[in-house]
Amino acid sequence: MPSIDWEIIGKFAIFSLALWVLISVWMGLFKPVYGARGKGGQKRGKKKRIQKPKQGDQSKKLSHAELEATVRRMFPEPPQTTERSRAREAVVTLVKHSARGLFDLLPEESCVSILKRIAGAGSDCPRCGGNQTEKSKDAHYRQYYRRRRCPDCQTQGQTATFYELTGTIFENSHLSARQWLWGIFLFVSGCSTLEIATELHVNLKTAQRMVTLLHLTLITCRYRFSLNGQVEFDEVYLIGGLKGRAGKLHLDRPPRKRGLRLPGRGIWETDKVPILGLVDRQGYIYLVPCANVQSDTIRPLIEYLTDQGATIYTDEYNIYNFLRRLGYQHHTVNHSQGEYARGPVHVNTVEGLWSLLRDHLRIHRGVSKLYLPLYVMRFEFLTNRRALTRWQQMLELSALAAQADGTRLRWLVREKQIHTVCPTLGLGQVV
Ligand SMILES: [Zn+2]
Repeated sequence: MPSIDWEIIGKFAIFSLALWVLISVWMGLFKPVYGARGKGGQKRGKKKRIQKPKQGDQSKKLSHAELEATVRRMFPEPPQTTERSRAREAVVTLVKHSARGLFDLLPEESCVSILKRIAGAGSDCPRCGGNQTEKSKDAHYRQYYRRRRCPDCQTQGQTATFYELTGTIFENSHLSARQWLWGIFLFVSGCSTLEIATELHVNLKTAQRMVTLLHLTLITCRYRFSLNGQVEFDEVYLIGGLKGRAGKLHLDRPPRKRGLRLPGRGIWETDKVPILGLVDRQGYIYLVPCANVQSDTIRPLIEYLTDQGATIYTDEYNIYNFLRRLGYQHHTVNHSQGEYARGPVHVNTVEGLWSLLRDHLRIHRGVSKLYLPLYVMRFEFLTNRRALTRWQQMLELSALAAQADGTRLRWLVREKQIHTVCPTLGLGQVV
């Protein structure tokens, strides 16, 4: 029997083992142990570990029965009809038919009394100012109002009779005082014209007329208030075309398409209307739509509205370079170099307004550039009175409406001449 050479077998075994280890490493069998280069070529051992979802995690797959139970909890079956629920439904139906809206619950007499007191009605003639007036023969021609007669106006061949609301935008309106007050309340709440029409249960055209008169009131009763102290200027560009009849303007080009976006700064002609914002850091703002924002266009406005001693902050846009020559303290922040504030030098107050203004205009789903000043004016009015409640804003606007030249404003609406009083700085008479 030949003897077994254990030495050779041992060497052969060690060699085979070494060869197997080498091949295994080469083939990558020890990947999990040693790590390997991933697809991205990251270093060994640095492969990102994917965390397994923990027990009870939200990503746990729910069974059909569990999902069904969740859906049932989300939408429970309606409760059984009882005596009490039937009575409740009857009350809702009754109230729904007796009052068309919340405003019907306001007593008309109180609303008339508010309007009369706001209009400051007295016995003097609102047309000639004469105090020799007398009671009209049909003084009670309208409930809650009293008609008087002015002999002076009668001798001059003018309308002789007047009542408490004569000369205001409320004169001879078929709407009740309640509808006016509620309409103004919705107007200052930022409702669209369609919403106001629905709430007041009036025709859309009636609501449009009311909203236009209120807008015109804001335009004609915007008085000068000097900006002083720390003032910020900035401009924004709003897209607005010529919609519908475009205020009798002749359109010699196709109407603006939706989503039109031209690059760069806009001007009135390219349907991207610049709005200049002047903000007093004490909180008072002016928003002025301009035909363009060249220095020559905005200079008279700034000179008129800003006190000489004011400190003005703007961005680096060179249209404001004339400010220093006019004697204002002028500081700029350089947005193009990523500088947005340098101590008190910033325009963040005015820039914060732009997103609010865009939100305010969004409910109208696109406005004509011709009437853009009206909508901007509403935003300006509300922003300047942001500390007040809606009720107080409503009363302030009612007071302005009673103070405005109602006869002229009603004529403007009747003759469709509204665009002639929509002020866009730098634009001549639009017609
Ligand atoms: Zn008179």
